Amino acid sequence: MPRKGGIRQLGKYRAKRDFKTSPEPPGAVRGKKARRQGGFCVQKHAATRLHYDLRLEYRGTLLSWAVPKGPSLRPDDKRLAVQVEDHPLEYADFEGVIPEGYGAGVVMLWDKGTWQPLVKDVAAALAKGELKFTLDGVKLKGSWVLVRIAESAKDWLLIKHKDEWSGDISVIDIAPLSVKTDRGLEEILADDGPRPREPRARSG
Ligand code: MN
Repeated sequence: MPRKGGIRQLGKYRAKRDFKTSPEPPGAVRGKKARRQGGFCVQKHAATRLHYDLRLEYRGTLLSWAVPKGPSLRPDDKRLAVQVEDHPLEYADFEGVIPEGYGAGVVMLWDKGTWQPLVKDVAAALAKGELKFTLDGVKLKGSWVLVRIAESAKDWLLIKHKDEWSGDISVIDIAPLSVKTDRGLEEILADDGPRPREPRARSG
């Protein structure tokens, strides 16, 4: 959430989770200096409902938006992006199964790379509700904008600008697998999910 001076915190992130049961990282705010270029990731998250989480590194945490329909390369598509609590930087590499509690489900690292704001002052852009930026990921590239819906606190729209990386392609359908492990959601669940109990050996 935007705060005065762009200071980021992880209190909300930590309060929602029990790190004894969740494999997610507790993390820490690392380095408060704004960098012109930071990491970004998109996680495909099969929770109560499937959605995609867009995360942009900013001032030591990851600004985060949940995008129910996922990103689109079509400039005419305006994808709802609900801003959620900042996540720790370590989350940018996370893939696995959250067994119970907040966000329970399967998390796939769907895309990752770097992002660069197209504005001088990111804090001001967040406060104003319009952040233009570029992505250089494996799947998502080029120019994008996040625009906050008028009078809304946390509802934004994620829109692809028309450029060489836009097009009439459903990127979530043609590139559904993990950029980290090349696995699908079912494989991640099978590999990392809770183990079924061993059947008891029968005598005789
Ligand atoms: Mn999520």
